[in-house]
Amino acid sequence: MALVGIDLGTTNSLVSVFTADGPQLILNALGEALTPSAVGLSDKGDIIVGSAAKNRLVSHPDKTFARFKRYMGANREVKMGKKTYRAEDMSALILRSLKEDAERHLGEPVDRAIISVPAYFNDVQRKATYAAGKMAGLTVERLINEPTAAALAYGLNSKEDENTFLVIDLGGGTFDVSILEIFEGVMEVRSSAGDAFLGGEDFTDAIVGHFCEQLDKKPDELKPGVKGLLRDLADKAKIQLSSKHEASVKFIDRSAKKPEEKTLTISREKFETLSESLIKRMRRPIQRAIMDADLRADDIDRVVMVGGATRMPVIRAMITRLLKLFPEHSLDPDHVIALGAAVQCGLLDRHEALEDIVMTDVAPFTLGTEITVEPRPGVYETGHFQPIIERNTVIPVSRVATNSTIRKGQKGVDIVVYQGESPMVANNVKLGSFYVAVPHNPQGHESFDIRFTYDVSGILEVIVTTLSDNKSKTLVIEGNPGSIPKEEIVRRFKELEKLKIHPRDAAENTALISRFERAYENSLGDLRQQIGQGLAQFQAILDGQNDTDIKMAREQFSQFLTEIENMDVF
Ligand code: ADP
Ligand code: MG
Repeated sequence: MALVGIDLGTTNSLVSVFTADGPQLILNALGEALTPSAVGLSDKGDIIVGSAAKNRLVSHPDKTFARFKRYMGANREVKMGKKTYRAEDMSALILRSLKEDAERHLGEPVDRAIISVPAYFNDVQRKATYAAGKMAGLTVERLINEPTAAALAYGLNSKEDENTFLVIDLGGGTFDVSILEIFEGVMEVRSSAGDAFLGGEDFTDAIVGHFCEQLDKKPDELKPGVKGLLRDLADKAKIQLSSKHEASVKFIDRSAKKPEEKTLTISREKFETLSESLIKRMRRPIQRAIMDADLRADDIDRVVMVGGATRMPVIRAMITRLLKLFPEHSLDPDHVIALGAAVQCGLLDRHEALEDIVMTDVAPFTLGTEITVEPRPGVYETGHFQPIIERNTVIPVSRVATNSTIRKGQKGVDIVVYQGESPMVANNVKLGSFYVAVPHNPQGHESFDIRFTYDVSGILEVIVTTLSDNKSKTLVIEGNPGSIPKEEIVRRFKELEKLKIHPRDAAENTALISRFERAYENSLGDLRQQIGQGLAQFQAILDGQNDTDIKMAREQFSQFLTEIENMDVF
């Protein structure tokens, strides 16, 4: 059964496979490598996924969703039509669409996957990603940290046998930094750090704020539709600023009686001033990663950039200043992670071409339990953190801590598991807890081992063994309010399987129609009329049901729309 690599991104997702020619991206039904991570309901009530859904974000904000990766493992549901969905459900729909693309490309069933996750994903978010995979009918063979995948993609291209490199990944919603070393065919992750709430979108929001000023509106008071439109335009402007010094976009203000066309502008200089605080936030994880790896900035040989947002010149400039090195970008920053996930597939399936690479990864955060300490005899203080596996330990790893009961004759202990770097558990993330009965010993204290095992996917298993009777109990961290219980995953898989997904041969047509609608929404006057006519013509051709005609019309109209979309003030 085929195994694929998947980059399940906040903004875009990709699927890849390892072949005799190395890692390869698989294109979707629209012939594109990037499938936007967006899902929605069509007007007929079918589920739509990818570009078609993304294009409807502005026109149908109540029926379309994106950026749900930020809520993986969170107890949060959105309503789409009659049903409610969690981030895992929506991710499962994206995964299912990628799985189908891969099956069509490979001509065989695909039921196994390696999925990339930000290194900073915690245990709950990782389990949520597993659940999403299962709900899409995929066995998740393992999760791979995104920067590790990036390094695998670059490591393959590396001619030298000794290198220390820093991977910077700035995607739509997350920022990851990792330091890796390659030495005599062994690639080792030395450290990783990051910020789970910093990404390209924050830069977009900075521009939205600037546009609001130009429009004399407050960002918080915008209607959702207008906010979506402004965000869309701000994203366009941001992308323009990566290659130009001035960006301008056209905004149709419908708040007045007669819709009014306004041009919004921003200069690169202004944008850079607006992004100063975001850029500053990026420095800390970089410095921490270097320190955790026991290195100094000048020990770094190469800097690799991943993620669409690293295309912003201001990011390159900051990195160059900070590390006195020019970042590399020989691979497309959008493709790197999926290519690396494919390499990991090759390694897992022991592909001949890959015999020489050994890959090791590290635990991105410290894991431990709560303990009570006795600072003075007879004085007990709860709430302290006992690290068991420290951050940046090479995984897979298994570590034991031996503790004992505090009071004589104590009947049991509460094992509370935390993740984080603070000495006090209150400041760390609680992953779960369980109660373990200990043998009754009225005269003394009982000892017990807490064993933490952290697998290659970053999933934690906790086993407690009471030493006098050698009995063990395993913690199932599914009690966390954010995670979905096993039976629920099966139920959701069945529910999702029943959902009617828009037929894939129609995907290209739906995507084109949603592009028409978006262009229509964003224009006025003659141009708007032309777009409306184009859409009517295309719909008439669709009704004719002649495949050759439809294909030709699609090409023509796609070109027409590309010209409009690329017009400066759009
Ligand atoms: P994710 O990994 O979260 O799916 P991507 O790596 O696809 O994200 O990056 C998406 C982000 O990159 C978005 O915020 C997008 O606006 C930004 N982006 C894409 N192209 C450019 C560009 N040319 N200049 C600046 N930002 C860009
Ligand atoms: Mg990404």
